[in-house]
Amino acid sequence: MTATIIKGKEVAAELRADLKEEVAQLKEQGVVPGLTVILVGDNPASHSYVKAKAKACEEIGVASEVIKRDVNITQEELLQEIQQLNESEAVHGILVQLPLPNHIDEKAVLNAISPKKDVDGFHPVSVGNMVIGDECYLPCTPHGIIELIKRSGEEISGKHAVVIGRSNIVGKPVAMLLLQENATVTIAHSRTKDLSAMIKQADILVSAVGRPRLVKAEDLKPGAIVIDVGNTMENGKLVGDIDYEPAKEVAGYITPVPGGVGPMTITMLLKNTVDAAKTINNLK
Ligand code: NAP
Repeated sequence: MTATIIKGKEVAAELRADLKEEVAQLKEQGVVPGLTVILVGDNPASHSYVKAKAKACEEIGVASEVIKRDVNITQEELLQEIQQLNESEAVHGILVQLPLPNHIDEKAVLNAISPKKDVDGFHPVSVGNMVIGDECYLPCTPHGIIELIKRSGEEISGKHAVVIGRSNIVGKPVAMLLLQENATVTIAHSRTKDLSAMIKQADILVSAVGRPRLVKAEDLKPGAIVIDVGNTMENGKLVGDIDYEPAKEVAGYITPVPGGVGPMTITMLLKNTVDAAKTINNLK
């Protein structure tokens, strides 16, 4: 069997085209969705992520602003900045690019963002609402993963989903969202005793670890839906957690790296920003 490739890049392009139309309609009603990103310090990876986010906003007509602050900014100054953005009518989404310098308490900063503008979905109120299934902005990568699984056309309900990784930004929320879609969910992590045995049971496998070729083709259940979140730089190339070439001969569906989960993350950020603009302006 050769797997159907779930092309995240194409799915993301379709979603962005729809969002672009939605933004145009909002503009006719006098609302320009706005995203503000706060970038502290000069981490090159953070700079390039922020640039990609700003470019994506521009392409669909979302107004984006990047507030760049020196690495020595105090926590108090950063919190004041966020407070002003919480109050600004032109700003619908606020994102603080992580990581922050060591002298700043990341939790205090994320908690300062109004949940109404928390388009990254990391505020504890957003996380709590996600867990109980209430309306909230879903974290972007997990939300993108669920969209990709749905695009396979296969039912999630009743399937055994195995998530490898339990981070707050990917593993835990994706497990929670799969549960809400009525999958039976197992979460594996670095202390899991027999990872191969877990993987063999997976109708849906989501790997969010960051270890190239951790998941071997021989462990996959034939026909499984395999989502590779991992992206690690190896010899100048991005590689995933799944041993892709042999795995695609066993899986039913598989995401490539690059071009799988990656492009969905920014797309879901755009979606959250557009949704926030609608909600804040009572257009929903
Ligand atoms: P993280 O915080 O480092 O979490 C990694 C998880 O993997 C941890 O829960 C860890 O277990 C588990 N783990 C480590 N070694 C393992 C092993 N040998 N067997 C089983 N589990 C193991 O990473 P993250 O932020 O969730 O990101 C994971 C990967 O996804 C990275 O490659 C990252 O670059 C990528 N990523 C991609 C996107 C995207 O948009 N494409 C977005 C976010 C992240 P413990 O909890 O026990 O330590």
